[in-house]
Amino acid sequence: MELWQQMVRDSVHTVDQLVEKFGIDRKIAEELDEFFQARINPYYLSLIRQPGDPIWRQCVPDKAELEDFDAAEDPLMEDAMSPVPNITHRYPDRALFLVTSQCGLYCRFCTRKRKVGDYEKISMKGLESAFKYLEEHTEIRDVILSGGDPLMLTDAMLEKILQRIRAIPHIEIIRLGSKMPCVLPHRITPKLVNMLKKYHPIYCNTHFNHPWEITPESSKACQMMADAGIPMGNQMVIMKGVNDDPAVVKELMQKLLKIRVRPYYMYMADETKGANHFRTSIETGIKILEGLRGHTSGLAIPHFVIDAPGGGGKIPIIPNYVLHKDEERIILRNFQHKVYTYKNYADANNPEGFGSKNKTNGKNGKNGSNGNGNGKGKKEDIKPKKIKLPEHAEIEN
Ligand code: SF4
Repeated sequence: MELWQQMVRDSVHTVDQLVEKFGIDRKIAEELDEFFQARINPYYLSLIRQPGDPIWRQCVPDKAELEDFDAAEDPLMEDAMSPVPNITHRYPDRALFLVTSQCGLYCRFCTRKRKVGDYEKISMKGLESAFKYLEEHTEIRDVILSGGDPLMLTDAMLEKILQRIRAIPHIEIIRLGSKMPCVLPHRITPKLVNMLKKYHPIYCNTHFNHPWEITPESSKACQMMADAGIPMGNQMVIMKGVNDDPAVVKELMQKLLKIRVRPYYMYMADETKGANHFRTSIETGIKILEGLRGHTSGLAIPHFVIDAPGGGGKIPIIPNYVLHKDEERIILRNFQHKVYTYKNYADANNPEGFGSKNKTNGKNGKNGSNGNGNGKGKKEDIKPKKIKLPEHAEIEN
């Protein structure tokens, strides 16, 4: 047995352990266990500094989970979009392939808690029909291995899956969705990365939520993956009491870049059952994003998205930087709330734009055109419409 497997085996998971270690009332611990079992491996447990801290909140069952039964079990409609067991096919050219129900840690906010930890729900029996589906659907060029966590499979089992996928000519990209580099970095061994690099192009999206998760162990794991030529991305979920603070997120994003993990997505928490106590307002998410743009490198800025309930997919949200737009100009504010104007030039998509030859104002050219279409020469005569700027806006040009 490898060290990481032993650590999974040594996880806190029984009702007795929940009562003894975390002081949870026995009856509540039993109800929580029934709702979604615990798994806290010794490594992740060691990151807890005090009760209720951001690490604790992510992994220790909380009675608030039992007070939230309005939310859906499958808010993203993954099951409804599953043509065969183990596959979700939501977007045209990519498919999600669930290869195991197991994870190195069971996160209390998990969207897939209806399946995670249950061998019956994501079973190996479904693999054959999943491979067949991938073979037959030539439009799929990108497969995301998920679960559970695909790195919970042994190297041999994972390699068999990778070999089968690589034998399908139209599949160009394989992605691993794995939290292991963060929650159980001991899983990233030289043997694993040497096996993975035979099946390039492989990408990996991992899932760090707080700067305390960046340790010497997780840094080494991410760097080993990057050294094996696997580009690493991070998906973060905004959660109350974990990372709902612009300074915390900025620190996390900057630290991720240092360990060669590129911030990729920042999600609003899914509307999944038992996770209401984690959810924040959209305004908090926007404030976090505003705390990044302009204040740190663009490399450190993830896409801020809502994974739309009902299976609508990821929809980006951005702070409102556009104060006004018409066919001839756009008025923008920057991260310091200073205001700038940029000309909206004429082209096929904006025929009446700045410099348009269609326009006449009696000042330019024989035919009355007022523009030259290339931004040079006589200045366009813009008649600004009255617009209301925010009170704190500072006009620069
Ligand atoms: S690792 Fe992912 S799938 Fe597993 S419990 Fe955590 S969020 Fe859910």
